[in-house]
Amino acid sequence: MRIFDPHIHMTSRTTDDYRRMAAAGVRAVVEPAFWLGQPRTNPGSFADYFDSLLGWEPYRAGLFGIRHHATIALNPKEANDPRCRPVLDLLPRYLDKDGVVAVGEIGYDSMTPEEDDAFARQLALAIEHDLPALVHTPHRDKARGTRRTLDVAAESGIPPGRVLVDHLNELTVEIVKESGCWMGFSIYPETKMSPPRMVEILRRHGPERVLVNSAADWGHSDPLLTLETARAMLDAGFDADDVDRVMWSNPVEFFGQSGRLDLSGADQPEPAFQGSSILRGGS
Ligand SMILES: [Zn+2]
Repeated sequence: MRIFDPHIHMTSRTTDDYRRMAAAGVRAVVEPAFWLGQPRTNPGSFADYFDSLLGWEPYRAGLFGIRHHATIALNPKEANDPRCRPVLDLLPRYLDKDGVVAVGEIGYDSMTPEEDDAFARQLALAIEHDLPALVHTPHRDKARGTRRTLDVAAESGIPPGRVLVDHLNELTVEIVKESGCWMGFSIYPETKMSPPRMVEILRRHGPERVLVNSAADWGHSDPLLTLETARAMLDAGFDADDVDRVMWSNPVEFFGQSGRLDLSGADQPEPAFQGSSILRGGS
């Protein structure tokens, strides 16, 4: 089984996670730019983070045979902080770089006017740079937030087939499906979406335009929940082609629209990490 985790924050994960992911069949990941827990206080802090997403993290992933790409944006949470907003002026320079396969994550956290503005400006950047958009939906008031997300995306003029609306659940899947946007589901260990609930959604709505991710970050999360969901699909009677479509072909098709997805050798992970000293620890 080959797995593409289209939303995971590897910056917050250990080298041991990479090792376990590679062993579980994860061959490619997309890491969306997000907040760091500790609030950033200036745009330079974003620049270092973006450089890390495009340099250090792909290198670290590569040691385990995992292809790493990123999406770049001012995240919805920090869009509310006047110290962070100037990063919007830095984005065009990053959006032209190899390894950037979408603008994201953008969208709403608390649905403030500042978030409205940052969201609209970054959808315009996606169009300008010919990139798809990865859109986060709020964890509170999700139905209203998702409706507003779809309205703002439609107003921007970006084609729905170039928008991935993420963190969906049973309440929001239908309207996103009707919109023509792609549907992302984040599988969590305890709260929100679980593998059995995901299987039920796939049974009802089918695998078309559906992506499944672990959204693993600094919180209670698990980078192997993609594999667990794939197994739950097989147990429920989905065939290997359906699983491959959701876990591999769909993310390849969506992010492939950037023209920058490089999956060369992703099916033959080289155990290079065994010979590498850089991640063995020490200083
Ligand atoms: Zn995220």
